[in-house]
Amino acid sequence: KLYNQVQDLKGNIRVYCRVRPFLSGQPNRTCAVGDIDERTITILTPSKYGKEGKKLFTFNKVFGPASSQEEVFADTQPLIRSVLDGYNVCIFAYGQTGSGKTHTMTGPAELTKESVGVNYRALSDLFLISEQRKNTFSYDISVQMMEIYNEQVRDLLVTDGSNKRYPFDIILNGFNVPNANLVPVTSTSDVIYLMNLGHKNRAASSTSMNDRSSRSHSCLTVHVQGKDLTCGTVLHGCMHLVDLAGSERVDKSEVVGDRLKEAQHINKSLSALGDVIFSLAQKHPHVPYRNSKLTQLLQDSLGGQAKTLMFVHISPQPDAVGETISTLKFAERVS
Ligand code: ADP
Ligand code: MG
Repeated sequence: KLYNQVQDLKGNIRVYCRVRPFLSGQPNRTCAVGDIDERTITILTPSKYGKEGKKLFTFNKVFGPASSQEEVFADTQPLIRSVLDGYNVCIFAYGQTGSGKTHTMTGPAELTKESVGVNYRALSDLFLISEQRKNTFSYDISVQMMEIYNEQVRDLLVTDGSNKRYPFDIILNGFNVPNANLVPVTSTSDVIYLMNLGHKNRAASSTSMNDRSSRSHSCLTVHVQGKDLTCGTVLHGCMHLVDLAGSERVDKSEVVGDRLKEAQHINKSLSALGDVIFSLAQKHPHVPYRNSKLTQLLQDSLGGQAKTLMFVHISPQPDAVGETISTLKFAERVS
């Protein structure tokens, strides 16, 4: 009962934890993850991370290593519906590099009907529901895809291969990035085409794809405009699907130059995001949106009536336990 009251206070922020399975080739005799149930997860900590023992973390939902893309999406679905009702939604994937963020949002390298992630499922749901409502609502859906790298926003839906960056002061009101392509879509195949274009543009700017993608945030934004055919009222809903940069701490004594700059930008924007969500969860009167480009870009969809879902990802590997604990602490603070 108390738990429900706390949930009510915290309102529109939910945090789900997902543990990825061991990958083939990884030694898996020991596992850093102990018991998992609906809402709790136990991490086994060796003495080198403080007292040897177990740490218990509680979330709105915990998905174990055997959970499927479909199961994960089933708990996300209500948010998708609310976008069509005119709400703003943000869905984040947080975690260290290799913990499964892209797997959750996009899917594995080889996509199948079963393995596609939240992004594809969310869009196909939007089309499905808008079709079901077509006698009462007429919906226009369009998407943008952006990357934030070193506190600069870049349009990923360019078709001329340009590497255009937008100075941040042109991002107004968070509704969209003026001049960044806003592309109308009418089917999932349109969306798949655009996501592929976005992934290609993202890869084109890096020497090694995984490298760059783990050090920038990518954001697929879906704008929905719905006209109520019975009374003419127009609703706007917006959904941001964000694959965040890897949250691992970088040892400042080991990196210099560009790597150090990247690490500082990532660190700054992830802690700014944590501070914003924490302030919202605590109902602080002041929410520090202006501390990073990421939180400024998403401002309209964080707080107020907006709904936020954070997927925090962890690896089961014992050598990742330090990062796992800091990931779960970050998540617990905002949940
Ligand atoms: P991140 O985006 O956090 O760096 P990835 O999503 O790329 O991590 O995941 C790292 C590797 O683990 C990939 O090969 C991915 O396909 C695999 N993987 C991650 N999560 C799962 C999962 N739930 N089930 C199966 N494989 C997974
Ligand atoms: Mg990734």
